[in-house]
Amino acid sequence: MVSLKKLVKNPLQAFSNSSKASPDFQPELFDRHVMTTYGRFPLALTRGAGCRVWDDKGNEYLDFVAGIATCTLGHAHPVMVEAVTQQIQTLHHVSNLYYIPEQGALAHWLTEHSCADRVFFCNSGAEANEAAIKLARKYGHTKLGIEEPVIITANASFHGRTLATITATGQPKYQKNFAPLVPGFHYVPFNDGDALESAIASLNSNGPRVAGILLEALQGEGGVNPGNVHYFQRVRDLCDRHQILLIMDEVQVGVGRTGKVWGYENLDIEPDVITVAKGLGGGVPIGAMLCKSSCDVLQPGDHASTYGGNPFVCGVALAVCQTVTSENLIANASARGQQLRQGLLKLVDTYPDTFEQVRGWGLINGLVIKPNVAVKSIDIVKAAIDQQLLLVPAGSNVIRFVPPLIVSEEDVEEALKKLSVAIENTLLER
Ligand SMILES: *Cc1c(COP(=O)(O)O)cnc(C)c1O
Repeated sequence: MVSLKKLVKNPLQAFSNSSKASPDFQPELFDRHVMTTYGRFPLALTRGAGCRVWDDKGNEYLDFVAGIATCTLGHAHPVMVEAVTQQIQTLHHVSNLYYIPEQGALAHWLTEHSCADRVFFCNSGAEANEAAIKLARKYGHTKLGIEEPVIITANASFHGRTLATITATGQPKYQKNFAPLVPGFHYVPFNDGDALESAIASLNSNGPRVAGILLEALQGEGGVNPGNVHYFQRVRDLCDRHQILLIMDEVQVGVGRTGKVWGYENLDIEPDVITVAKGLGGGVPIGAMLCKSSCDVLQPGDHASTYGGNPFVCGVALAVCQTVTSENLIANASARGQQLRQGLLKLVDTYPDTFEQVRGWGLINGLVIKPNVAVKSIDIVKAAIDQQLLLVPAGSNVIRFVPPLIVSEEDVEEALKKLSVAIENTLLER
């Protein structure tokens, strides 16, 4: 047995310490017992500080993945260390049979900083979307008199891995082998107003059937593809005309990542329902569904989660959210994002046969590889690991950059240098 003393270092020293990582990782044991649901990189990460992480051999990496757009404040941030320590010493879980003050405070922060009035707490993005799907269905039944409500989603979207959310996800690769899927979903091309209008017209031709439209402001997993302002204004207009709920999946972009608190602020619209998770807790598992009071149809007994919004995650998430505003991390996301995109555009200029364009807002950006090029995003991501830079693909042709919102000018410069070497090495190998 590993002694407790060995496992728990003084947390308040974590941000600055640079001691050796734990040496006893056993890959054979891991592979024998952990299910093979992920294609993992051969890297065991054991420690982090700021925008850096270390593997079990002590190698340092610049982290432009941030736990997939999740570690808003990076690793071992003093605010998080303090909030985690304080909350676990005070109260960490009691269930929703009782009032939880931290939950109320976080709900207040979220509604003060959004167009929503009401919040339901859960533990992940998929669960937040499940809650939104249930809300839209009940709204359809009780407000619109629809017997079998339909929710429209977009091709190339991503909404999670539960049965309802893989059905909502407009990508067949996530649905393969898991039929029968959940009924009541219809897909349209993203950023295509005409297609949406005709889908609504045909679905509603014999009376109302569409209860909700679920869209990402910027499709993250589907290739870092930003929504179009004119398109979303038309979506909003169609929703108003047909009393359809506009649900924005802000799981990957919410809480400052796009250079605004919410992705929808880049689109000059207000949704009726918002789902959020990844960045909200800075790495502690929390999700939430927010809605306007006009469409809050949920009553006691309708929906629940045992862990949802417990004192621990809400206390930590509140500290994360407050730091995002107090430390001007949203402005930092804008400025560092601009710097990153400028650097990436230079790489597009340098390798015009390989790269097509750069897409993104704030600190969610994608470097897009041209179609029919033999190099895939995963090849460059692997070459970047060799340069001690962590990146994540968004599909086979997009390299995604989602660093912590605390990323510095020097970090971005260093990432661009490492990336440039990784690209050069990848192309040399061909
Ligand atoms: C990651 C993601 C989800 C799923 O979140 P989980 O916490 O993995 O369940 C849903 N929607 C979007 C847009 C995401 O990026």
